[in-house]
Amino acid sequence: MTYNLVCGLETHVELSTKTKIFCSCPTAFGSDPNTNVCPKCLGEPGSLPLVNMATFIYAIKAGLALNCKINQEVSFDRKNYTYPDLPKAYQTTQFIQPICTNGYIKLNSGKKIRINRIHLEEDAGKLIHSGGNTYIDCNRGAVPLIEIVTEPDISSIEEAREYLEKLQLNLRHVQVSDCKMEEGSMRCDVNLSVNRPGEPLGVRSEIKNMNSLSFMEKAIAYEYERHVTAIKNNEPLVQETRRFNEADGSTSAMRDKEDANDYRYFKDPDSPYIIIDDIFIEDIAKTMPMLPEKIKNNYLEMGLSEQDADLIIKYKKVSDYFSSALVTGDPKILSTYMLGEIFRSIETESQKEDFNILVPYAELAELSNLQKEGKINAQMAKKTLAEMLKSGKSWKEYISKSDMEGIDEGTLIAMCKTAITENPMAVADFKAGKDKALKALIGAVMRQSRGKANAVQAEQTILDLIK
Ligand code: ADP
Ligand code: MG
Ligand code: ZN
Repeated sequence: MTYNLVCGLETHVELSTKTKIFCSCPTAFGSDPNTNVCPKCLGEPGSLPLVNMATFIYAIKAGLALNCKINQEVSFDRKNYTYPDLPKAYQTTQFIQPICTNGYIKLNSGKKIRINRIHLEEDAGKLIHSGGNTYIDCNRGAVPLIEIVTEPDISSIEEAREYLEKLQLNLRHVQVSDCKMEEGSMRCDVNLSVNRPGEPLGVRSEIKNMNSLSFMEKAIAYEYERHVTAIKNNEPLVQETRRFNEADGSTSAMRDKEDANDYRYFKDPDSPYIIIDDIFIEDIAKTMPMLPEKIKNNYLEMGLSEQDADLIIKYKKVSDYFSSALVTGDPKILSTYMLGEIFRSIETESQKEDFNILVPYAELAELSNLQKEGKINAQMAKKTLAEMLKSGKSWKEYISKSDMEGIDEGTLIAMCKTAITENPMAVADFKAGKDKALKALIGAVMRQSRGKANAVQAEQTILDLIK
């Protein structure tokens, strides 16, 4: 008997606004503890919130990127609970009138994962456990978040991963958030139940605060098995909140799941009721960049493979640079530069995200055209690009006029003859059936010609000569 996996994700994403949601404290990550705080974000009596308009612009961009309806009447509510990282004892959030509703993310299979809502809210501070003590750092308190809540439409681990990756990709492209799970700017709660085809939804559990894709996958796998086993053994499942244990990939109960009632939500009396007019939304829509799915389709139409296109669109700045180079350069050759020499020079994920390379896109495009027109071969292009990446100088510094003249047939034959007489062992090996020996001979020709010879022509000429 098989059970369906039923999963809905609630994803918290920190917005990359410079300041917090209701005050002008900076949102910077990594400052000294409790230095980015003021009476407003600590919720001290007598302080009043001032809504940061940028947070609305960011949330609307997210909504537009995720096919949502943007609601034009929006307000804030208080969600009451106590925890040491929340000195205010309530979180300001949008419970009743969220900014966006009814969106979706389309998976590669064509299936849509529906987004029920996106709301704006403030983050809480952080507890730091160290040397048997616990410290409170309120820097993160009142950093603006959006929470993106799906319908329970996800039915496999693969779908959960694809949904989250697509969410991350879209939000990065519209520059709403850097979505770094390892730094906590993207965190995800997994809601999961199981049922049999045709049955109503089962009892769900919620696993809090997944901070990596692989933890999320492990948590879903573990939780699915736990639910199925409980049902098969006739053990009751209760609606509860669970934690994920990184050490062994298990989950364990934290607390009974609260209901909305437990939080005593009520409208925040201190923040304004907000009406968003059409023009505000239209102006934001006009500034929206092309979305990753569309960019990818363009790359595919230009002849890139699906895999290469995915690697390039993964990083917003890489994809902007590549798209600019494409306007005048050759798509296939540019993609080999990008995924070869350029990515080799910036290995880490964060280097790729920041993408500060010394070569202007127009230079790269010119190099690709020299190669395409046969003025230089792939090896020379590669060597030149490596130098350009190190020095930031133009290709003109490394490729001379004579380099671009190519090699006439007579010269090539002479070079091949020299290679053959100077490498008798390689010739003998090749004749004895070692195909690899041919590479050594071609290599000798390339060296003589300082990389100018065409390797395919050299190979053919050598074969003709030693036949
Ligand atoms: P709450 O706010 O109490 O966490 P919601 O109704 O807002 O509850 O749902 C939170 C998440 O749980 C949503 O992503 C939703 O899709 C998911 N969810 C709701 N019911 C189930 C269920 N039976 N199985 C799996 N996921 C569920
Ligand atoms: Mg929840
Ligand atoms: Zn503040």
